[in-house]
Amino acid sequence: MQIDKVYEPQRFEPHWAQSWIDSGIFRANPGASGRVFSLVIPPPNVTGSLHIGHMLEHTEIDVTIRWRRMLGYNTLWLPGTDHAGIATQMVVERKLAEEGILRRDLGREEFEKRVWQWKQQYGDNIKRQMIRLGASCDWSRERFTLDPGLSRAVREVFVRLYEKGLIYRGEYMVNWCPRCHTALSDLEVAHTDVSGHLWHIRYPVNGLEGRFVTVATTRPETMLGDTAVAINAKDARYLDLHGKTVQLPIMDRELPIILDDLADMEFGTGVVKVTPAHDLNDFEAGRRHNLPKIKVIDENARMTAAAGEYAGLDRLEARKEVVAALEKSGALVKVEDYKLSLGTCSRCKTPVEPLVSTQWFVKMKPLAEKAIEVVENGRIEFIPANWTKTYYEWMYNIRDWCISRQLWWGHRIPAWHCQECHETVVARETPSICPRCGSAELVQDTDVLDTWFSSALWPFSTLGWPEKTLDLATYYPTSLLITGFDILFFWVARMIMMGLEFMGEAPFHQVYIHALVRDAEGQKMSKTKGNVIDPLVVTEKYGTDAIRMAMLQCAAPGTDIVLTEARMESSRAFANKIWNAARFLFLNMERCGVEPWVPERLAEFLPEAEGGEVPIEDRWIFSRLNDCARQANRTIETYRYHEAAQLLWQFIWHEFCDWYVELKKLRFQENSGLTAGWRNLLAAFENVLRLLHPAMPFITEELWQRLLPIRDPLLPSRDREGAAARPTSIALADYPQYRREATDFHAEREIGVLQEIVTMARTLRTESKLDPKQQLSGTVYCRTAALEAAQAHAEAIQKLANVKLEFKAEAAPKAPVMRSTAEIDLVLEVPKSQEETKAKRDAKELLQLDKNIANLERQLTDETFLAKAPQKVIENMRASLGAYKAQRDKLS
Ligand SMILES: [Zn+2]
Ligand SMILES: [Zn+2]
Repeated sequence: MQIDKVYEPQRFEPHWAQSWIDSGIFRANPGASGRVFSLVIPPPNVTGSLHIGHMLEHTEIDVTIRWRRMLGYNTLWLPGTDHAGIATQMVVERKLAEEGILRRDLGREEFEKRVWQWKQQYGDNIKRQMIRLGASCDWSRERFTLDPGLSRAVREVFVRLYEKGLIYRGEYMVNWCPRCHTALSDLEVAHTDVSGHLWHIRYPVNGLEGRFVTVATTRPETMLGDTAVAINAKDARYLDLHGKTVQLPIMDRELPIILDDLADMEFGTGVVKVTPAHDLNDFEAGRRHNLPKIKVIDENARMTAAAGEYAGLDRLEARKEVVAALEKSGALVKVEDYKLSLGTCSRCKTPVEPLVSTQWFVKMKPLAEKAIEVVENGRIEFIPANWTKTYYEWMYNIRDWCISRQLWWGHRIPAWHCQECHETVVARETPSICPRCGSAELVQDTDVLDTWFSSALWPFSTLGWPEKTLDLATYYPTSLLITGFDILFFWVARMIMMGLEFMGEAPFHQVYIHALVRDAEGQKMSKTKGNVIDPLVVTEKYGTDAIRMAMLQCAAPGTDIVLTEARMESSRAFANKIWNAARFLFLNMERCGVEPWVPERLAEFLPEAEGGEVPIEDRWIFSRLNDCARQANRTIETYRYHEAAQLLWQFIWHEFCDWYVELKKLRFQENSGLTAGWRNLLAAFENVLRLLHPAMPFITEELWQRLLPIRDPLLPSRDREGAAARPTSIALADYPQYRREATDFHAEREIGVLQEIVTMARTLRTESKLDPKQQLSGTVYCRTAALEAAQAHAEAIQKLANVKLEFKAEAAPKAPVMRSTAEIDLVLEVPKSQEETKAKRDAKELLQLDKNIANLERQLTDETFLAKAPQKVIENMRASLGAYKAQRDKLS
């Protein structure tokens, strides 16, 4: 029963983190009995290390999965990482650049080898960190999106979708990074507001002398690729231009005037230029009107031969020259300053260029229909529910998904192009000859798949699909997904679509969307702002349990989480409080020669009698425990983690430690050889540890193991073998449940009266600045049934309040030192000696207050001061003045 004097989580947290893994208690067993609760991790990028947002996500997942495990569910939390195509490739490229090596010089194969080496070296960072943070994952099932099994699933899905006609190759407008040389997903494009210009250019109308239309653009160099101008069919200003053409300045090309909604009558002149090769909306308009696409900017952001005399120039140089030429020709009407949203590559910050290129696509509409249906019919539920609307908005407006990336790191597209007849072969295995012409000249497509393609398969590819595994049969569909809102579309929606297509069932039943962690000022954390909280640093400082508790306390669904050092510190104090309660318990057990004891049928345990009667405090704490268990189960089940944390905190600190342990101390003073009373205390404390375990796994395990040394085969077991022994870990013990028979309103009422009187006495002492050590005398006045309860516990009340009390069933007289509640009045008599010192002190304080008030009043009427002082200062002074006046009124 040895216990360290001071709570030092660093001394035992790493030990338990490792011990849980070594003992395999989180390993899932698909053959085990019990209802299934399974969950896959949102795979962090293999490049990264865990940030505080991960820690929040993992804490919420861990609370849920630990709780379900303690309820007896057959649980699985499957961990793993994502190969993160572009992110990882960039990291390794940068590393190579430091050694003076360029990716292209290495060649594809050698480069891939280097990335794997890098992965071997750093890929375990995340795992190590998660273990340290107590995540109860099954590491024997850890997966990586580029594992052979998962890669096989990717190929299978690609081939099946292709055969079904849902994957096709086509021209499309993509976000192109001229530096990384790849198409980017919308998520990989960062948008920043920058100041730019809006150039107004006029195009002469052919056949109408002196007639022009004026268009405006933020990228004048693209006008070289214009193939039409558009007007709105409803725009009366341009009715006479229907069927006419305009002449493109500089290039001297004739452009048709088309009627299209692309032209917004409210915006500018109502006429827009159409550049199908360099703008997404124009691209689509071009399709509608069968316009040619003239590509004037290439993959390196240089002007192409189609740009005429500007060929070879960088796009920004070309812009200058084009503007100069327009000005010279008189086509430039005006230039305005203009704020625009510039898209840049989120990896390298280069401005992206919308380009037309040949890419691979997934047809999304047919997949989306089913994915909308499962949410509509309630088979998938989003929590908080407002995300459902966001989901629908996206799904109803879904566009085809560009899945090819011009990278080297990722799943290579399983397509081969015949060099002879240009046939494209999509296959599971590398083909040796072209099925069309028999040529052996087949070259594999050089593109890889978008990272999200493999993560979309994550809930079933990780469980062994396309094999029919026992894991897949047991754990799919998973029960829950906990993730951030930023990947709702990129990941969550696509998992739903792929799950429905390939498993015939949605991949999860509930999606809980957690909030963002912000700093004390409510700002988003970012490296550039320098306000990032590193989970490993703060857990080292305060202990993992304290950080988990601090985050849970503010993890209300739908609100951002403001994590402050003060909160972490007070969570540490909470852990410390529990530690001290345990210390008191263990030291007294030793002193009294008490053996560890926990009832065999714990779930049915009710406090036991001692000398004929069940002690009131034991009846009370079990009733309160019962209520706490009821609420804890309900709040964790509905993801109200903040409520769960707050109620556990309130119960453990302010009921168990502050009252129950104090009342027990009195019992022990009364009866030093007490043995029977111990049983209730031990059972209650053991319950507290189990209640708190999902939120604070380390301290609860540490104390539980000390409370119940392994030799005592006492608790009903959740061990897989089913032997009737104490589980090896508190993580496998039962979570306390509500029982009707454990509620004891009578005991709650009696202890309630006791608490009321003691609290009043303590408040009076503090208010009157009386020495807490000096015993006072006083009278309790009460004309209700509460009097009986008060009298019954007179001894405990007098000891805890350090007041000698009389009890009277009458109304209280007016007295100088008194406090009242609805039923009870408490009057304290202040001893002569203290009365005099108190009077002196009061007089002195009054004098000081008067001085302060006079000072403030003078300043606050001084016009010059008021004119100069900041508003905030004046407000503070007014507030202080009010407070001083209130204090003075009370004293006098
Ligand atoms: Zn880039
Ligand atoms: Zn061929």
